[in-house]
Amino acid sequence: MVLEILEGFLSKNNGDAKESLLDLYEVKSCLIDKDGNPDATKMISDIEDIIESEALERGLCPKCCAELDSKKFNDNYSEYLGRPVFEIRTKYTCPSCGYTED
Ligand SMILES: [Zn+2]
Repeated sequence: MVLEILEGFLSKNNGDAKESLLDLYEVKSCLIDKDGNPDATKMISDIEDIIESEALERGLCPKCCAELDSKKFNDNYSEYLGRPVFEIRTKYTCPSCGYTED
């Protein structure tokens, strides 16, 4: 249901993911006004899940929709046959609100 709403916003905004996610935030903030309603609570958590996965997929911050900075770093140092082995990972941070990917 939430994905369908997002698709509706995407077509309204000519595929602009940032605009569409901000529209979805607005839907969420309207729902928060009616707190205590279990349907609204379920809908809010669905919207949060969708915003998080769709935003991250597009390199946008799930909290404020700003573009995320990505930084590559070496992780999980270990040794294999006497040589150092690293796993290269990318960490995303938001320059706007300070969000950091877990
Ligand atoms: Zn942010």
